[in-house]
Amino acid sequence: MDNCLFCKIAAGQIPSDKVYEDDSVYAFRDINPQAPVHILVIPRKHIPSLDGIGDASDQELASCLRAIRTIAGQEGLNHGYRVVSNCGPDACQSVPHLHFHILGGTQMADRMA
Ligand code: 5GP
Ligand code: ZN
Repeated sequence: MDNCLFCKIAAGQIPSDKVYEDDSVYAFRDINPQAPVHILVIPRKHIPSLDGIGDASDQELASCLRAIRTIAGQEGLNHGYRVVSNCGPDACQSVPHLHFHILGGTQMADRMA
């Protein structure tokens, strides 16, 4: 998609702190980290949010989850981590390209919201 921030990051048109990439997935550190480790995992294909996964292949979606597991290992998150995907306005999604936050490196609050 032409005017999408995360499409441009995945294409290398906007710089990012890359931690992982493969044919269908790109991952990079969040510019405003909310935890000692805060990484965004995105499909290269433009999908606006989880609501749009009808346009993604099972392979693309599974690759995101497998990348999350790989990155958690790379980052040494042996005590656990949280994965979040904000979808739509009630969840305060601010970038309309599907992404999974990996949050870790600290003890997190025992609640989701
Ligand atoms: P959302 O609020 O949509 O769930 O998450 C979007 C995330 O993207 C936020 O955590 C925000 O800090 C991050 N973000 C926004 N713009 C940029 C950017 O240009 N580079 C990087 N690395 N992260 C960004
Ligand atoms: Zn996009």
